[in-house]
Amino acid sequence: MPGSASLLGLPRGELEDWFVSRGEAAFRARQLMRWLYRRGELEPLRMTDMTLSLRESLSDAAGLALPKIVRRQRSCDGTRKWLLDAGGGQLIESVFIPERSRGSLCVSSQVGCAVNCPFCATGQMGFSRNLSAAEIVAQTLVARRELAPEGRSITNIVFMGMGEPLANFREVARAASVFVDHLGLGLSRRRVTLSTSGITPRIRKLAQVSRVSLALSLHAPDDKLRNRLVPLNRRYPLGPLLEACWEYARATESREVTFEYVMLDGVNDQPGQARALARLLRGRPAKLNLIPCNPVSGTPFRCSPRPVINRFRQTLLDAGVMTITRKTRGDDIDAACGQLRGAVLNGRSVPHGMRARA
Ligand code: SAH
Ligand code: SF4
Repeated sequence: MPGSASLLGLPRGELEDWFVSRGEAAFRARQLMRWLYRRGELEPLRMTDMTLSLRESLSDAAGLALPKIVRRQRSCDGTRKWLLDAGGGQLIESVFIPERSRGSLCVSSQVGCAVNCPFCATGQMGFSRNLSAAEIVAQTLVARRELAPEGRSITNIVFMGMGEPLANFREVARAASVFVDHLGLGLSRRRVTLSTSGITPRIRKLAQVSRVSLALSLHAPDDKLRNRLVPLNRRYPLGPLLEACWEYARATESREVTFEYVMLDGVNDQPGQARALARLLRGRPAKLNLIPCNPVSGTPFRCSPRPVINRFRQTLLDAGVMTITRKTRGDDIDAACGQLRGAVLNGRSVPHGMRARA
């Protein structure tokens, strides 16, 4: 996996500084970005518009290797999952979700997660470390190479894989900057979505530095329940958190904030809770995604029955809140939301789906 010293994942300004500090012209940064992100060429010796001496020094210094793919999986619905070697026996996962007119890549931002939401597989594995911007961007390059023979491309990137992206702010912001740079992956800010469990001050900071689309994992309409489902809520309660979301929407020209709400049987799916949720969101720049809970072994949570989800959604629609129920994708390969985990066994990481066999 590319380490933190890699030039991969550096925003254009930092890359220019890197070249200038070595006595090279700043425009070399643009050349390098074209090679890396337009052409997918990571071998400096083949970057023919650079001088030979620069190619050689890049080859020594740039650290442009992609991570090894440990395992490839394909769901019956076309979802793809790659298990990547993050070094030191650790594994991370990226998931591609194809749809008719778009393809979303779900990237990981950390190995594990410290937030510890009790219904989430990643939460169960604990926190190991932050990924570097290089490791985050590398996931997109790996997926792009893998998808090219099928003629599929990445039109959207979502930070919804393993980890809490705002707990790894600097590296995630760097990677996001490469995603939206026209010399990087060239995606519009609307097509890059960061999903967070709600670190309020970092949402405010993100509005200043990045302004990609924001998704907030809400899961409960009141602090008492949210303290249990998203333990970070004890530190960053709902009132100021939602205020930060509305400010974020203002900073992004009223682009709506997406709220994610995982439907947990008998826990957060009652009619009174739907009404309380409607009071929080109606009249606001918000859209709500109800997510059928994906089963995670070792947790007591089950998914709400379909009629309960439908009724919950109707209450919100009646109150004027834009609400959809998200389709579950890739659950047969443990690639669905909250199912990503590389469990550690005998000091070695193995993917969740292999645990029973290991
Ligand atoms: N840490 C970030 C992003 C990664 S989780 C966050 O929590 O937002 C991506 C999404 O999957 C979040 O909305 C999360 O709440 C949801 N999720 C976690 N476990 C789930 C499960 N078992 N079933 C369905 N969704 C789940
Ligand atoms: Fe971490 Fe998100 Fe899972 Fe919560 S839902 S444990 S914040 S990855």
